Amino acid sequence: MLGPMYEGLNELIVRAWGLDHNLRALDQDEWRRVGIEEVFTFLDIGEQMYNVGTSYHRAFSACKRDLEHFITLLLMVKSEGLHCEHLLDVLSTLQPNDSIISFNWDTIADFTLQLAKFPQFATYCDLMVKRPLVNDFVGRGVLLKLHGSLNWMVCQNLDCSRHGQIRLALRDGQLADLSVGSKCPECGQEERPFIIPPTSRKLIRRGSTMHRLWMLAREQLAFCSRIVFIGYSFPPTDSHSEWLFRQIHFLDEGLPEVIVVNPGIMKTRGPVAVRYSRLFKGRAIHKFATLADFSRDGLELLRSKPGARAEAPQPRLP
Ligand SMILES: [Zn+2]
Repeated sequence: MLGPMYEGLNELIVRAWGLDHNLRALDQDEWRRVGIEEVFTFLDIGEQMYNVGTSYHRAFSACKRDLEHFITLLLMVKSEGLHCEHLLDVLSTLQPNDSIISFNWDTIADFTLQLAKFPQFATYCDLMVKRPLVNDFVGRGVLLKLHGSLNWMVCQNLDCSRHGQIRLALRDGQLADLSVGSKCPECGQEERPFIIPPTSRKLIRRGSTMHRLWMLAREQLAFCSRIVFIGYSFPPTDSHSEWLFRQIHFLDEGLPEVIVVNPGIMKTRGPVAVRYSRLFKGRAIHKFATLADFSRDGLELLRSKPGARAEAPQPRLP
């Protein structure tokens, strides 16, 4: 769908990634080898290399904007209003003061929490509606979306008093239906979702909403005795999350128990397993390939006291 919607961006990726078959006709196999993080980083660096106002700068910026639009639109179509039954099972085991950190832009976790009326959802709404102050939320279970979200809307109108401010799209205290579009409550212009593209240049400015959410995640981690990673694989471009989770090595209570749900973790010498074993050195890691496996076989582990059923230490990797 990229070609018909954004011809220029499609052509740029086809040429820069050498997708030769796609010069003549669509070849989906070639596209599967293109990493979204590589493309974002390529466009990001291109934008930095040229002065503002030059045609190259404009072209790179336009491609980056188009890619963001394309991804947010497709994700919205795929996830709007939907929840996940497996995730619901997992979240049902949480205590009210357990927090959920999400790096996803989609709203599956949000709708799952809302559906089951979990306290983390009310705290999330509270956090996003008020100006989040870290100290008011430490120790309270909350959803923290650290890469933005499809339903965090920002007004693009430079003359509007709400310009640039993040607004969680709610209607009567419930997540709003965004398939009908979203308009700024102040000036009525169309809003855009706030998402942080997957590049190493995250631009989390001190004092911004995102900065406060990251610092709150940092504070919540200080109290954790168990972390469950679902799907996340610590991509090399995500140095901020590595910064965040490396700090568990400074916890007074010792290292938390670590559970990883990811097909990549099952390959002992694969990149995902190697990244986890380097980051959580000296800690046994409980492993599950899929969320379905985890919701079937891992919930007992979640209900037990952390550390009570720790596995034998993993063999050290070369
Ligand atoms: Zn506005």
